[in-house]
Amino acid sequence: MPERLRLVVSGATGRMGATLARLAAADEALTIVGGVDRDGSENGASGYPDIRSISDAEELIRSADAVVDFSAPEFLRSLLSEQSDALTGRAVVAGTTGLGAEEERLLDRAAERSPVLTAANFSVGVNVLMALVERAARALGPEYDVEIVEAHHRRKEDAPSGTALALGAAIASGREADLAAVRRDGRSGRPGARPTGEIGFHAVRGGSVVGEHEVMFIGDLDRVEIVHRASDRALFASGALRAARWLAGRPAGRYDMRQVLGLD
Ligand code: NAD
Repeated sequence: MPERLRLVVSGATGRMGATLARLAAADEALTIVGGVDRDGSENGASGYPDIRSISDAEELIRSADAVVDFSAPEFLRSLLSEQSDALTGRAVVAGTTGLGAEEERLLDRAAERSPVLTAANFSVGVNVLMALVERAARALGPEYDVEIVEAHHRRKEDAPSGTALALGAAIASGREADLAAVRRDGRSGRPGARPTGEIGFHAVRGGSVVGEHEVMFIGDLDRVEIVHRASDRALFASGALRAARWLAGRPAGRYDMRQVLGLD
């Protein structure tokens, strides 16, 4: 039997950290060697033999083949900057959303020495949705108005979701447009008539909704809707573990789920 992939989870005591531990326990190809989280996070969270703070995680990280991060932008930032040497050569799978320019710069820097994979959404179904909306946008053209409606649980802090923005980027790319130039978040007051080519984003928040994304292509004569509904967050953890297995041992560089799933 091949050796098990040794994993460290960053954000181990969070919801995704718990789900990753549950799935990894049932996966013969993986072993969780420990977790990293904030000081004061509950020690010995279920499924984690060891939980360390970032400053105390060097040895743990060096014992792993891959680090999977679902934490917060500031935590990922500290992990990448304080443990850059220990991370060298290890696969880095980053799922934290709401990343800014500084986190992207640190991920680029890590990718000079490690294979690094980021995804706004690790669900295999959503990544298929991404590929479909790009093709639909290319075929339908900018005369179809695009509106993206996403819904998430009430605790989600960023909006629109990273996935909604990635869907918008895929649509813009299908139309050879620049998302920043055509993006419109919500509408209120008197925004005026809708310009051709605009991509609208709308965020619904409430309850315990795991994650829903609806992309509408609204034409004069018809309307195409493509929808994905996640029913269990294990979906994201399962995709992230699939990505970690695929990524470990690859050359340094930035990767995405399209490559993992062969969607290019
Ligand atoms: P959570 O709040 O349950 O867990 C966050 C974990 O990060 C906790 O263990 C917390 O202690 C730790 N942490 C460290 N520094 C923190 C800080 N400054 N603020 C908040 N938490 C901090 O969240 P979660 O639902 O597990 O999600 C974690 C991240 O993963 C979020 O960014 C979320 O949007 C993202 N996420 C991504 C995907 C995807 O497919 N890419 C799927 C689900 C969640």
